[in-house]
Amino acid sequence: MATLKPMPLATKISAPFWQALKEEQLKIQQCNQCNGWVFFPRNHCSHCLAHDLEWQQVSGEGTLYSYTLTRIPTMPEFSDEMPQALAVVELAEGVRINTTLIDVAEADINIGMAVKPVFDKVTPDGDTLLRFTSINNAGGVREYVDPLKGLEQNAKGQVQVPVSNLAALYALADNKFTQWSNTVLVDQDLINAFAELSGDDYWLHTDPERAKKDSPFKTTIAHGSLVQVLQSRLTIALPFEITGFGTMVNYGSNRLRFPAPVPVGSTIHGRSKVKDISVSHKGVQLTLEMNIHVVGNEKPSVINDLVILYR
Ligand SMILES: [Zn+2]
Repeated sequence: MATLKPMPLATKISAPFWQALKEEQLKIQQCNQCNGWVFFPRNHCSHCLAHDLEWQQVSGEGTLYSYTLTRIPTMPEFSDEMPQALAVVELAEGVRINTTLIDVAEADINIGMAVKPVFDKVTPDGDTLLRFTSINNAGGVREYVDPLKGLEQNAKGQVQVPVSNLAALYALADNKFTQWSNTVLVDQDLINAFAELSGDDYWLHTDPERAKKDSPFKTTIAHGSLVQVLQSRLTIALPFEITGFGTMVNYGSNRLRFPAPVPVGSTIHGRSKVKDISVSHKGVQLTLEMNIHVVGNEKPSVINDLVILYR
């Protein structure tokens, strides 16, 4: 997913509608009993109640039945699309569709104007939303544009993402991990030093003789919180840099787990990915999932969802 805008979820009944949009076709249902056209997707005919509907491809041409211009985003995620022309389009078949009118100047929007569909590719996976535009406009497909493309890079090769560029911010949350960081050795001296600093000198961490006998790991293990803070020694090359903000606040962690132990003598490394971008009155919140593993172990020893707030 390269967009974190709310997306429609296809149901069993509506799936053919969304699949057709992906294929740049508009399909609506028609009743085999009374020939009535039906929209939104349903199990039964809204005219005669027969359970005998069939998907039919239509041209999508119609007229503007009603519209409103939103001056305040209906949700923060749409603040980069203002003003939105939320519209109701009546197809030639008579059904009405809630949609968005695009590429029409405000002064040129008129109730009753002739419109045609635009298949708007909103993710690199081909997810397509149905918009409408003036019949006089060219093109029936709006191709997906990678919002990160064309942005400048710094000397380290990181894409410069202005905090005001919401589309680009959302595109960062692509669920892809960075490369692995450098490695750090976790030896008994380091564990002892952390035990002294934190006051947590439980034998499982600090007593190799007893651990050999009594621990299920047969050796001492590092404190989970030690491994967590060692992230500061791991250099993780993020592919981007956020720019143009006033302040950046470490807002804490949404989730902190220690799924696998780090036995003494282990070498650890880490990687991260942008898990989430959200926008609120507090600012832009970026959730960075940080994973630290013992080298060679597929199961992470630390999962930390760090939250960074930009204002
Ligand atoms: Zn019918």
